[in-house]
Amino acid sequence: HECQSKAVRSMFIDYFCNSHGHKFVKSSSVIPDANDGTYFTNAGMNQFKPIFLGTAPITSELAGYQRVANSQKCVRVGGKHNDLDDVGYDLTHHTFFEMLGSWSFGDYFKDEACAMALHLLLDVYKLRKDCLYFSYFKGDTDLALEPDLQTAEIWRQLGIPADHILPFGMRDNFWEMGETGPCGPCTEIHYDHTGAGNCAHLVNTGSPRVIEIWNLVFMQFNRLSSTQLVPLPSCHVDTGMGLERLCAVLQGTRSNYNTDLFWPIFNAMHKETGLPQYGDKTGTDDTGGVDTGYRILADHTRMAAVCIADRLLPGRQGLESRVRFVIDRALHQCHHVLNIRPGLMGKLVRPVVETLGDAYPELSLQENKIRDVVCEAEDRYLELYEDGKYNFTKLLRKTPDIKTLDEEQILRLRDGWYGRPMSTHLIELIAGQYGLSVDRDVIHSLNTQPASDIEDEEFPCFTAELLNDLPITKAPPTDDSLKYVYRDKKCPDI
Ligand code: ATP
Ligand code: MG
Ligand code: MG
Ligand code: MG
Repeated sequence: HECQSKAVRSMFIDYFCNSHGHKFVKSSSVIPDANDGTYFTNAGMNQFKPIFLGTAPITSELAGYQRVANSQKCVRVGGKHNDLDDVGYDLTHHTFFEMLGSWSFGDYFKDEACAMALHLLLDVYKLRKDCLYFSYFKGDTDLALEPDLQTAEIWRQLGIPADHILPFGMRDNFWEMGETGPCGPCTEIHYDHTGAGNCAHLVNTGSPRVIEIWNLVFMQFNRLSSTQLVPLPSCHVDTGMGLERLCAVLQGTRSNYNTDLFWPIFNAMHKETGLPQYGDKTGTDDTGGVDTGYRILADHTRMAAVCIADRLLPGRQGLESRVRFVIDRALHQCHHVLNIRPGLMGKLVRPVVETLGDAYPELSLQENKIRDVVCEAEDRYLELYEDGKYNFTKLLRKTPDIKTLDEEQILRLRDGWYGRPMSTHLIELIAGQYGLSVDRDVIHSLNTQPASDIEDEEFPCFTAELLNDLPITKAPPTDDSLKYVYRDKKCPDI
């Protein structure tokens, strides 16, 4: 039971807070502060941004502490760190995940940060040293940034062999919260799931064999624009390790989904639907995307539950439309991939709360509300789908011989000539079900047009009762990058 997620989480907190003088700070909400340059809270450092920038004194809660640690609720849907397209198709990226974090605000720097991290992994979590790889920043000429040879030397001094210490550039070893804001070179720790000791060439390639687990950022700059970095008033350490990935390592699996954070959700799916157990499909490949569907549904239900618990309901605009988009994506799996009766997603709220409620009590406290919102969202989803099918029957009555929807027909469906306006996603989905093809170029151009979303206008409002005593969420940034796009992709073989 040492390896159960609950223990893994608390060993991290215990190590930093009880053994190394850090103060525990609660996870902040997944709704970022207005204008902080992110969509959802995408990392543990978000709530400390003013401390890094020097625009706020260390708050009274933190007074006297220059070292803090926690486990932060993070969502990476939209914005600079957008993992939505990979979720379910790989085994290591989630829309919602927990980031185990530790910080030094102008206190210790590289030496101590690296030593503490290594000691925790080797002596507390008992990872094999030869399975670990360490990357450092190799510098960037365009931005006139020096290579971080100091960090490479620190790892060497700590006993890491030279062929496990690897240089990488801006993409992997310079961490930035958003298009602007605090940033700096980082050093990352990667885990080789094969234990072969010769996987240096696989680090940062996306290979499922070698996985990034922990990022140690040396916060030194504030990015003002694409070309301008200015030094921060002082140097800080900001580290973040994915709990789900660490649990996978400690539980001896390459898949985050094969851990105690996800099994209760898969068990509930199996029990409620009679579909095969997750990972139980016949054959080696994921025929029909059933396992992928399970992963998407489990992941998205966690994301929805955490957002709703933070008072962010699915809606028409901004952040709210993103929550709705993710819920719709999960419902698409239920109704159009797995072909499950209505009601499953609501039933998955229980195991999600079971696995996360101890760490984030707001989930336990609002379990019923979360379930109500999810069920209501499903009613809306099915309503729009039925209306869409009705529109198609009308269109097909007029033009029974069509094989491909052209621009005019797509626009008419979208604009509500036959009934309720339809999203491009819904048009493509139902066209497919009728055996019709769709002009992809038209769909693509509609999806990338910065026009206001028709489907958002048409999304039925949540009932007043549900909104009761939920405070209004902060004004979110608007952006059009998020559209209904379903990728036809398979999980990589491992
Ligand atoms: P990757 O390269 O795998 O996408 P990243 O470099 O984007 O990860 P960081 O921003 O460095 O990730 O975040 C710190 C840590 O958080 C990562 O090392 C990883 O363990 C974890 N992490 C990042 N994104 C996700 C995600 N979408 N789901 C689960 N864990 C994640
Ligand atoms: Mg990433
Ligand atoms: Mg990375
Ligand atoms: Mg990283």
